[in-house]
Amino acid sequence: MRKPIIAGNWKMFKTAGEAVSFVQEVKGKAEVDGVDSVICAPFTALPALVEAVKGTTLQVGAQNLHFEDSGAFTGEISGGMLKDLGVQYVIIGHSERRAYFAETDEAVNKKTHAAFKHGLTPIVCVGEKLEEREAGQTDEVNKVQTVAAFQGLSKEQAGQVVVAYEPIWAIGTGKSSTADDANQVIGRIRAVIAELFDAETAAKVRIQYGGSVKPNNVKEFMSMPEIDGALVGGASLEPASYIGLVEGAK
Ligand code: 13P
Repeated sequence: MRKPIIAGNWKMFKTAGEAVSFVQEVKGKAEVDGVDSVICAPFTALPALVEAVKGTTLQVGAQNLHFEDSGAFTGEISGGMLKDLGVQYVIIGHSERRAYFAETDEAVNKKTHAAFKHGLTPIVCVGEKLEEREAGQTDEVNKVQTVAAFQGLSKEQAGQVVVAYEPIWAIGTGKSSTADDANQVIGRIRAVIAELFDAETAAKVRIQYGGSVKPNNVKEFMSMPEIDGALVGGASLEPASYIGLVEGAK
């Protein structure tokens, strides 16, 4: 039985002070037994956020990391630095990073290994563009990205990965996938993981859907057998809405 996981991806929103106010409003509410509730904030808000969630079951994630432990990489943050802060999760390979920051499948794989090296749980994003979907390439694109991301992981590590299936055409557009379609695509991503490792490992991997998830549609996604949670952008920014998402995942 996989534990549902709701993760808010704040993207480039919220100062440290705003993050602390957010936690004050959601604590005790966006905490539901049996659901992991993770806030993925900008680097600058992480120290304050880690402090603010102490004594709650809320968890904290970053939105990126560099794959090296340290070095001359101006502007970058390592897994060790995140772990030292008390961060537990890290989003890797978000489509915005792939599109705007030239993040490759190879970098995603290196970052996934770096996350495990430093004791962070990776949330690895995969998903097709609109033109790829229209060309009937959805499963192939997700397969290539999934195979690359999982390359070289042990079975034990693979079972701990959180995958976020985020069809790019559904991100920030208000046009979510249907729950049934997302369920089928995610089932096929799970089958790829089973091929790479085995069915038992694939059955452990939590796979989220992301793309225009809101409090009013989260339940429908969560009712699907293959969908274990949601990675949410816009609707994770307002306290009431975030609470609705976590409550809806129960
Ligand atoms: P929206 O929920 O705003 O569509 O964003 C999805 C996303 O990119 C989460 O990582």
